[in-house]
Amino acid sequence: MSFAVNKNEQLQVKIEDLTHDGAGVAKVDGYALFIQGALPGETVTVHVLKTLKKYGFAKLLEIVEPSPERVIPPCHVFPTCGGCQLQHISYEAQLKQKQKSVRDVMDRIAKLPDVPVHEVKGMDDPWRYRNKSQIPFDTEHDRVITGFYKSRTHQIVDTDICLIQTTEADELMTMLKRKIQQLGIETYNEKTNTGMLRHVIVRKARQTNQVMVVLVTRHKKFPQKQAVVELIQQEIPNVTSIMQNINTANTNVIMGNETINLYGADVIIDRIGDIEFEISARSFYQVNPQQTEVLYQQALDYAGLTGSEIVIDAYCGIGTISLFLAKQAKEVYGVEIVPQAIQDAKRNAEVNGITNTHFEAGAAEEVIPKWYAKGKQFDVLMVDPPRKGCDEKLLDTILQYKPAKVVYVSCNPGTLARDLRILEDGGYRTKEVQPVDMFPHSSHVECVCYLEYVGVTP
Ligand code: SAH
Repeated sequence: MSFAVNKNEQLQVKIEDLTHDGAGVAKVDGYALFIQGALPGETVTVHVLKTLKKYGFAKLLEIVEPSPERVIPPCHVFPTCGGCQLQHISYEAQLKQKQKSVRDVMDRIAKLPDVPVHEVKGMDDPWRYRNKSQIPFDTEHDRVITGFYKSRTHQIVDTDICLIQTTEADELMTMLKRKIQQLGIETYNEKTNTGMLRHVIVRKARQTNQVMVVLVTRHKKFPQKQAVVELIQQEIPNVTSIMQNINTANTNVIMGNETINLYGADVIIDRIGDIEFEISARSFYQVNPQQTEVLYQQALDYAGLTGSEIVIDAYCGIGTISLFLAKQAKEVYGVEIVPQAIQDAKRNAEVNGITNTHFEAGAAEEVIPKWYAKGKQFDVLMVDPPRKGCDEKLLDTILQYKPAKVVYVSCNPGTLARDLRILEDGGYRTKEVQPVDMFPHSSHVECVCYLEYVGVTP
């Protein structure tokens, strides 16, 4: 079969667009070519690597005319390390790009060309924002390496520095790399399921500066643990908790079921707004707490609570949004599928002296219809589903009971747009969309949308 371009051909193209994962898109007689590293507006020469029926892939050889938005990526392992996709674009342009990608799905998938998509709320300082790092270790040619996985592989790109994680995590990576070999601790080998140290997890509470370090080992018996604990204490004076997690399984899942305290407290404490959270080794917690506050504040503003409303927080995790809303609402009902998260949510409510929340473990699409069937009425329904979006059955329930306001928090604009179309067809109107940048330098974008029920016009 012949295409507009041929494999191994070298050609000059103009980049027209950027894909969700940061690749430049050129069109050659209507045939799309994806080129990693190339930016919209640039003229580049490329080498065609692969041609498929509808599109192909090419390698960037030379930038003939660079984009004014191109910057030198500050990280020396970008783009080999898969963590960031957009470091070669100025932060302002990243935000514009993310707004454009949301606009695009609102037009194309939700068919809502008139709905306002606001400018993305970004960070003043978009570096060092991640409060959690899961650092793998390996040994290569008798040398310990650590860093992050190359995109779609389990191959570590060796580095001491990651500019989106905390400085504590950097310091720990550098120190452990030198010391664990001296201490005779073997790094874990995935292929043979041998060795000892699998991952080191570093979590920092932004508001209190407390740091937790979790050493994930293959065995419970870890003879060098005292030496490692002392080294960590010396390196990181603000460490308040050191835990050992045991994962004997030959699996991609990072942590196992057993966690032992090696030093300090079992939890670190952080705050979002004025709500306190106890974070244990395995509990889920937002990784960019500063922007989480921006996101939740937006959700709260859209909910427009006056104190008399009964609110649902569907897909509530450890109850972060629920607790944030509770002070402004009469009651908040949270539902989440992971029972442990519901336990954490109840505990977090208690720690904060919040008594008007109710949490139930189960699937949102099962539990919410049950609440309605019991005759409960809700004024605002908030949803924050995983990437695949809302379950169809939940959307049916919303359309059946028609709560006046729906606030949709989404980490995937594509599924958000799909769900908005369904809600629109059922009588809701999407009033506005506010994107928030939770993950600077990555291609992800989070959105909060506000919908009102207006009824179906015949
Ligand atoms: N609102 C929370 C968490 C959002 S992440 C926060 O802001 O922190 C999405 C959550 O949905 C996850 O905790 C996941 O466990 C949960 N989940 C996934 N499928 C679900 C379902 N069918 N019903 C309820 N919760 C579900």
